[in-house]
Amino acid sequence: MDLSDRVAIVTGSGRGIGRAIALRLAEAGANVVVNDVGDMAPAGEVVEEIRRLGQDSLVVPADVSQPDDVASLVDTTVEKYGKVDILVNNAGITRDQLIMRMSDDDWDKVLEINLKSVFLCSRAVLRHMMRQRWGRIVNISSIVGLIGNPGQANYSSSKAGIIGLTRTIAKEVASRGITANAIAPGFIDTPMTQQLPEERRQAIMEQVPLGFLGTPRDVAEAVAFLASEEARYITGQVLTIDGGISLGKL
Ligand code: NAP
Repeated sequence: MDLSDRVAIVTGSGRGIGRAIALRLAEAGANVVVNDVGDMAPAGEVVEEIRRLGQDSLVVPADVSQPDDVASLVDTTVEKYGKVDILVNNAGITRDQLIMRMSDDDWDKVLEINLKSVFLCSRAVLRHMMRQRWGRIVNISSIVGLIGNPGQANYSSSKAGIIGLTRTIAKEVASRGITANAIAPGFIDTPMTQQLPEERRQAIMEQVPLGFLGTPRDVAEAVAFLASEEARYITGQVLTIDGGISLGKL
């Protein structure tokens, strides 16, 4: 996969899956805009790593649930590189609680950061992608958006929403050479899942047919493929990367 001369934005790429995606796209030759919110030190380290790989990179702090921040993320990218070819909507949070105890704020915050951000960022880049008649949007959903999960009414709804949004974007812009696909990871070893109690992680691992948690790199490989020219005939799809856990038991 050759992404030379491509310009990519990866949201929430200071750590975890986003970081691995940013590095993988850079390995394939892309210049990568690293986005994060809060402490920018980890994002700065990702930029340094990308530069060591021989590609250009910069950090743009932005809360991707906020329209003004998203405008500044995309405008800064286009000012610096003249275009944006690849958008990876990766930023996401959890605020788990059983539905009976879930607050309005926990619902709204997760929907805003996980789903509204995908709408805002996609809308902002599409203008540029449509003009150049080439673009790739890859949205990070989750298997819980497909199968549900107790304690994650907000999160699973946001991730299911991403799938509907991805398919709609795919249909709206297919004629302009732009594809939109979603990836549904299972349990990936990142700070998000490291918050889970050790017994819960062990119990999950026992349910994974392949017998181990995925790594951020496992997800990043698929993103690099979907962002490439080789994936030009794939759009509106959901690729599950979960070691087989969503296959269920006999
Ligand atoms: P993570 O380690 O918690 O990293 C999430 C990143 O998103 C962090 O860098 C975070 O920044 C950033 N972020 C949060 N809110 C943001 C906002 N409003 N604007 C910009 N950036 C923001 O999570 P992860 O495990 O790598 O997950 C990445 C994506 O994969 C998420 O969408 C998640 O739902 C999805 N996913 C993960 C798994 C898994 O098992 N890990 C499974 C399925 C799907 P801060 O560091 O400043 O908080």
